[in-house]
Amino acid sequence: MTFTEGGQFEGGRVRKGGRRGAVVGGGLGAIVVALLVVFLGGGDLGQLTGALGGAVQQDAGLPAGEGQEQYVDDCTAQEANTSRECRLSATVQSLDAYWGRVLPEQAGVEYELPPVESFSGSTTTGCGAASSATGPFYCPPDRTVYVDLSFFDQLGSQFGAQGGPLAEEYVVAHEVGHHVEQLVGAMDAADRGGSGPESDSVRIELMADCLAGMWAGSAATEVDPDTGVTFLEPITPARLREALDAAAAVGDDRIQQRATGQVSPEGFTHGTSEQRVRWFTTGYEGGTLDDCDALSARTL
Ligand SMILES: [Zn+2]
Repeated sequence: MTFTEGGQFEGGRVRKGGRRGAVVGGGLGAIVVALLVVFLGGGDLGQLTGALGGAVQQDAGLPAGEGQEQYVDDCTAQEANTSRECRLSATVQSLDAYWGRVLPEQAGVEYELPPVESFSGSTTTGCGAASSATGPFYCPPDRTVYVDLSFFDQLGSQFGAQGGPLAEEYVVAHEVGHHVEQLVGAMDAADRGGSGPESDSVRIELMADCLAGMWAGSAATEVDPDTGVTFLEPITPARLREALDAAAAVGDDRIQQRATGQVSPEGFTHGTSEQRVRWFTTGYEGGTLDDCDALSARTL
């Protein structure tokens, strides 16, 4: 168990995607492509989410009744502890409540709920086409979190993590952390094209780990205003190890070592295992947005 008994999570927060690429019609597809080009070239970013949503709704390739966007349904804490889809929805709602309170408090910035899409196979995003191989990601142009739930199996099989619910929740919280970075201006301030141990790419990733830690550290005391029940049960040492183990498993040095047998710091984009665990822990142990500001930190 990680979600507290008695918890209830409304449906409609997480969109089920993943069939766009195959179904967008010619004329409509052309419009979407044109918008994407404008979008990636620095056009009006605010319009893209709507444009993509419209494309899906007018999709002619699906059976009647399935042309509408579909969302993860209402579900309970019990289900959040057994179903990945419900867990994603519940985690996002816990993150919404947490950042909705903390972001205005600590940064004077209103929290805008990021669209969240759960997809399988492939999907089309404001950042281009994505497949399961991409892993979960945040797309700054459409400010949307994309999660392929099968990644959580890969976390074990491919990255050697022990897995577990808090490990999955950490991954979702990390992606929403990128959205928080977007809202506070860190994402735009960073030069995200580079790599290397001191690069802004690494800094943005370590900050997202720290922000995920902030959420995890509070989720057991954060009360869902809809139900009056805390989101998560108190996090046990074993559960915490799952999250830390996942953070370590996706460290650049660990991934490079597994893939090539050696470590090349100049290729780092996410930080080492040690750094990822440490920044998560900084947030988890009561860190603030300022403590998590890896973008301007002198030492990483
Ligand atoms: Zn990231």
